[in-house]
Amino acid sequence: MDSADQFRFTHIPHPAPVSAARRTELLANPGFGRVFTDHMAVVRYKEGQGWHNPTIEARAPIALDPAAAVLHYAQEIFEGMKAYRAADGGVVMFRPDANARRFRQSAERMAMAEVPDVLFLEAVRELVRVDRDWIPSGESASLYLRPFMIASEAFLGVKPSSEYLFIVIASPVGAYFSGGAVSVWVSEDYTRAAPGGTGAAKCGGNYAASLLAQREAKAQNCDQVLFLDAAEHRWIEEMGGMNIFFVMKDGTLVTPPLGGTILPGITRDALLTLARDKGLTVREERYSIEQCYEDAASGRLVEAFACGTAAVVTSIGRFRGHRGEIVIGAGNGADPVTEGLRDALIGIQRGQRPDPYGWVQ
Ligand code: PMP
Repeated sequence: MDSADQFRFTHIPHPAPVSAARRTELLANPGFGRVFTDHMAVVRYKEGQGWHNPTIEARAPIALDPAAAVLHYAQEIFEGMKAYRAADGGVVMFRPDANARRFRQSAERMAMAEVPDVLFLEAVRELVRVDRDWIPSGESASLYLRPFMIASEAFLGVKPSSEYLFIVIASPVGAYFSGGAVSVWVSEDYTRAAPGGTGAAKCGGNYAASLLAQREAKAQNCDQVLFLDAAEHRWIEEMGGMNIFFVMKDGTLVTPPLGGTILPGITRDALLTLARDKGLTVREERYSIEQCYEDAASGRLVEAFACGTAAVVTSIGRFRGHRGEIVIGAGNGADPVTEGLRDALIGIQRGQRPDPYGWVQ
């Protein structure tokens, strides 16, 4: 059994951390993903040697051999999670163990070395501890943590790398979307993941493959892209970086099932539990884009929302695509079921509501 003691991080002091005054300035309006904390956690892996040399060091560019496998064959995975400043001044994280588990599952799919959960969690916690002054305290602000792993062996043959770097960086963030409801472009020309592919893994390649569709969405004046299944091009799967839910007039919630082609979102999973405990009927079942358009027209579909660590719970106001545009509900984000779920989730995440599930650490 791995224990945290096995992975004691060496702290290498930052020679010139950002001044407190500059940090306060940066934290006042961090945006999303452009401001970074002073440090990073770095752990190396080599076949035969295992994970070794865990350090907390100054965040800086990393040296990679130009033949490093990640640069050629994209052996790369990552996670996204948040630390919050709780009302009592303490620091809380939401289900970090679920991120550790998903990271291991992604590693397995990409034939990479698995990071033991205790090492993953220790790296994240050590970084949050050393950079805790970077956690913003605003309403929708948090410290976004980005654990990732890259294949670092210098070898041009196509095979799983024998060396890896596991790194955690952190970025203080505000809201991902600027507010209100988002608009969604239904991508009919591009798919994200096929059965047997890597859709359920959080690997960089999935995101690279989604960018052209996301660019098309922007060109169509939409905030996000919605992908359909690769086989029939009709079953709704997920968005570029979020899962999706639909709310029917009778109060039923519908979300696409996990079948290997979509990312098993931790927010999705939490919302399924919260919705069931609120007494709502929840169905994880296939929902086609035709049915979605039909239900929006008939008034059966009353709300839709995106969910994920970055987006939290965000109302979808309209869908647009080759088959035209539909507006969901009022189209402006005034959606009672969505709002109720968002408040319940945020309350738990920020330590403002009781957490009967043991999600908050
Ligand atoms: N789908 C995709 C493609 C994502 O990138 C994300 C964000 N990690 C999600 C869904 C939502 O997952 P989570 O709730 O764990 O953030």
